[in-house]
Amino acid sequence: MTAPHATSVPFFRPALTEDEISEVVACLRSGWLTTGPRTKQFEADFTTAVGAKHAIAVTSCTAALHLAVEALGLRPGQGVLVPTMTFAATAEVVRYQGAVPIFVDCDPVSLNMDLSAAEQALVALRSDATPLDRNLDVVGIMPVHIGGLMLNMDTVRAFAAAHGLWIVEDAAHALPAAYRPNPNASWRRCGEGTADVTCYSFYANKTITTGEGGMAVTDDEALAARMRSMSLHGLSQDAWNRFSGGSWDYQIISPGFKYNLTDIASAIGIHQLRRAEILRQRREFIANRYKEAFANLTAFELPPTDSDRHHSWHLFPIRLRLEELSIDRNELINVLKSRGVGTSVHWRPLHLHPYYETSFGWRPEHLPIASAIWERLLSLPLSPAMTDEDVDYVVQAVTAACNEHARIPRNTRTAA
Ligand SMILES: *Cc1c(COP(=O)(O)O)cnc(C)c1O
Repeated sequence: MTAPHATSVPFFRPALTEDEISEVVACLRSGWLTTGPRTKQFEADFTTAVGAKHAIAVTSCTAALHLAVEALGLRPGQGVLVPTMTFAATAEVVRYQGAVPIFVDCDPVSLNMDLSAAEQALVALRSDATPLDRNLDVVGIMPVHIGGLMLNMDTVRAFAAAHGLWIVEDAAHALPAAYRPNPNASWRRCGEGTADVTCYSFYANKTITTGEGGMAVTDDEALAARMRSMSLHGLSQDAWNRFSGGSWDYQIISPGFKYNLTDIASAIGIHQLRRAEILRQRREFIANRYKEAFANLTAFELPPTDSDRHHSWHLFPIRLRLEELSIDRNELINVLKSRGVGTSVHWRPLHLHPYYETSFGWRPEHLPIASAIWERLLSLPLSPAMTDEDVDYVVQAVTAACNEHARIPRNTRTAA
């Protein structure tokens, strides 16, 4: 009988305190459970935190992305540039509107969308190099800051302006995060006028959590009003306004959705947001420990850093050098799991999923960088709730696994 491993470090554990717990209890005692005063406060605090004019709290980042593309008028016959290296949500909201995601290849180091590949994707639409309909009207671009390492949004905005595109930023990993286009420029936070709409996730394993939740921010009053209305059935005013002194009456402006965040969730979010930078610093500390500890391992490449980026460190994605290992990525995941270390993969690129292959004809060769690199990707545990002992344990387990499964066994190598 094999006993379960004495130590185990899950891929992620949320970092909650008594502040979140007592705020939830106070919310329950208050008698107002759905969208109300705590959600209003969470939204107001959020605009201050990221430097945006309007914030709409919703049930998920997916809901925020959907509201954003709906408010921007996305419709069938249109196309949107979407990185293939992202989570399902970024592309599926484009499909919700009947429009088509035009997948873009990634940078081989940062894994973020490569803007020269975006340019090529636009050129390819006029040639045989794409499986997509040549008549698509390309209207938008949806950058994703993978792991919280921001793209240069000045460059993205210039690209969008040159091609007449709107920008919906999938910032599911990027809170808090910031960038500067060069060392002499001032810092700009993700959400601080970086896109037409910026969308955040408060899913259980994101940088801050409300269990499930999301936020859409914008500086555009009309987009904000449309998203707020459509987040609640397309009504002219929300329940809190109606029951807290406003009129009982409402009008349906459009067939909307049911995406409003509850006050129970916002009670958690208010306190998570206050600690967002402290939690980030803990993740950065762990990321630096990993970088030091793995500096001499040849089995994989480390995630990049950049002095012009304030990195949220949501993920620690390593890129395996498969030629150095006698096992593949999936086998390494199992070896680490047997030692009690939880890992994950971000992601199988969207163009390699059956839905996009069969519906749109995507093939691996259309996006060669993402197709090759995803076999090498592995995300190590990284959460602010990890103790120093957890970090040491992961370092030892990963080092041992790589040495034991080195293609050229360690002890047969000639000493340098
Ligand atoms: C998690 C994630 C989402 C979806 O967030 P939800 O809040 O679960 O809807 C969207 N995009 C990216 C890149 C993500 O990692």
